[in-house]
Amino acid sequence: MAKFASSKRQSRQTAPHPVRVLYVTSEIAPLIKTGGLADVSASLPPALREMGVDVRVLVPGYDSALSGLRYKRKLAAIVLPHFPPATLLSARLPSGVPLLTIACPPLFQRSGGPYQDGQGADWPDNALRFGFLSRVAALLAGEESPLSWRPNIVHGNDWQCGLIPAYLQLTDAGASSASARTLFTVHNLAFQGIFPPSSVAELGLPAASFAIDGLEFHGNMSFLKAGLFYADGINTVSPTYASEIQTEALGFGMQGLLKSRAGVLWGILNGIDDETWDPARDPLIPQRYTALTLEDKAANKLALQNRLGLAADAQIPLLGVVSRITHQKGLDLLIEMAARLVATPAQIAILGSGDAELQKSLDDLARRQPDRIAVSHEFDEALAHLIEAGSDMFLMPSRFEPCGLNQMYSQRYGTPPVVRATGGLADSVVDCDGAMANDSDRPTGFVFRDATDADFLAAVIRAIAAWRDKPLWREIQRNGMGRDFSWKASARQYLETYRLLLDKHWKD
Ligand code: ADP
Repeated sequence: MAKFASSKRQSRQTAPHPVRVLYVTSEIAPLIKTGGLADVSASLPPALREMGVDVRVLVPGYDSALSGLRYKRKLAAIVLPHFPPATLLSARLPSGVPLLTIACPPLFQRSGGPYQDGQGADWPDNALRFGFLSRVAALLAGEESPLSWRPNIVHGNDWQCGLIPAYLQLTDAGASSASARTLFTVHNLAFQGIFPPSSVAELGLPAASFAIDGLEFHGNMSFLKAGLFYADGINTVSPTYASEIQTEALGFGMQGLLKSRAGVLWGILNGIDDETWDPARDPLIPQRYTALTLEDKAANKLALQNRLGLAADAQIPLLGVVSRITHQKGLDLLIEMAARLVATPAQIAILGSGDAELQKSLDDLARRQPDRIAVSHEFDEALAHLIEAGSDMFLMPSRFEPCGLNQMYSQRYGTPPVVRATGGLADSVVDCDGAMANDSDRPTGFVFRDATDADFLAAVIRAIAAWRDKPLWREIQRNGMGRDFSWKASARQYLETYRLLLDKHWKD
């Protein structure tokens, strides 16, 4: 895995290129959100802009994106072979960052989610939809662009943007765009954008690219593999995950390719939007508080218990979860252990949706003990904030976690997380035990090693014991609240990476 050069060496090695970034994403808060990518897309570009980077964001023109934007301006008609005609619009994000969006009703304007219909089935034309997003990004980087502004970095995220470097390298789109370099960020390697081989021709890509050294992945084409193979640089959203994806256990079949590209593979821990997620200013919680007024947090616990119909009891520890309900997130471990946990005693508040069977198991548990376990499957931003503020501790028993945001939110809210030592969880939570921490790290939560019932249960029991020791608990809470999870440090690393990619002498 590539390491960041020290900033001193860096400044001697690289020319001060003006950096112009086209940041391409399939979701962005508050316009469209299914998970952490939306939060990252909303907060990394403004952090870069503050550092002087000329960054513009490109998103598909979903209904919610178009209706959520005021003062849209029509920039150009887009007519490309293989795709329906579209219009490029410009607007501004709430953060002030310029936004480009692709209005194309047949591809993007429909009711349902960005990737799936209302029943949870993938849209059948996803290859065309996100192929188009990638193709338009490549157009904007090349000489045929209808805009006078030309990026020198095209930064794509996840499989939906995987074809950007493929279009730039393999088609006319990139013929005269030698100066645009590509960075491809993997937020989750498990989502691979797999489509039948016929998609290669349908999307206007050369037949020869359907090969092991190209787009092919076990007989199909993979957008994710295209990104990993053709991008000039790759990064994932935490240093630990960048190492883990080079192993068979977490490489999802891409580990060989990733290992071969280790020289241009970085791990950059996500930051968080520390204005939206700030207990001192949060308009979505009934009682605001700081590290100095932690006793006020109790009012949020009571509000959470009342809202979810849990017994209103300050003396019982309340464990919070906000998560996709999936095997990846270890929700099956929670289901296995829930009865034993609540018997300790404890309460559990869960917000999230996902796997139907796991959801049903959670619903059954809540039905049996409604005063101890509450579950909501809505997508509810306000309840997510209330769970962060009102819970005593936060659970994330993930099997793998590229970065994870909630463990950072929860530290900021004085709600120490109990997490498995994987990916970004391992990189952002310091265990209370000290065994996993070095001397300079102050404990901020509870970390367990194996994704087993026993390890998970032991960690929660350890956390509950610490919660009963009020002075110790206050210390852990304040340590977490004092951590700097802002985007500043991460944005600096992204800028360093862009500069490295722009450096003419840079070699893979
Ligand atoms: P992932 O992107 O893998 O789902 P992250 O922890 O990186 O996980 O980010 C999840 C984001 O989505 C967080 O901001 C979390 O609060 C939010 N979230 C997940 N499910 C819900 C839900 N049901 N309601 C509100 N917010 C949710």
